[in-house]
Amino acid sequence: MYKSIVVAIDGSDAAQKALETACGLAKTFDAELHLVHSPQVETTSISVGYTVVDVPVSPAQIAEAGKAVMEAAIAKATDLGTPPHDHTIGSGDPADDILDCAKLNDADLIVMGRRGLGSVASLFLGSVSQKVSRGASCSCLTVAH
Ligand code: ATP
Ligand code: MG
Repeated sequence: MYKSIVVAIDGSDAAQKALETACGLAKTFDAELHLVHSPQVETTSISVGYTVVDVPVSPAQIAEAGKAVMEAAIAKATDLGTPPHDHTIGSGDPADDILDCAKLNDADLIVMGRRGLGSVASLFLGSVSQKVSRGASCSCLTVAH
């Protein structure tokens, strides 16, 4: 049913749950798994262990943290028995990077967290999951955690 699954990673618990779900689906359907992560200031704050969000970070720190987030996701997927077919570290708007990755890999499913690292607790969907769901031409799964 699914042959090419894109999973979007931002380093949040929600994205971790999305990754676990995507790995389960990839195994069930024998699908290719494609990981995508777009390093941002907020993803860096978590990855390098700062407890406040508005710590200034350099582009080099953002890139380094992005690699760490991706390496952890690759290791997790591999542990779960579904090593990723490939991975992409984006350099632009996260939603655009996810949509581009889906197009490039002819994805039939995009798996994301319903929310991510954002702190507006009242929102049902985050801005990235919302934009991807609106813009995707394939099915999208927003995973609750
Ligand atoms: P907001 O960012 O709008 O304040 P939020 O962080 O709670 O809210 P989103 O950013 O929409 O919510 O995150 C929802 C999901 O989108 C994440 O669980 C993840 O799967 C994906 N995502 C978010 N940011 C990125 C990113 N930088 N790179 C890859 N995937 C991302
Ligand atoms: Mg976010």
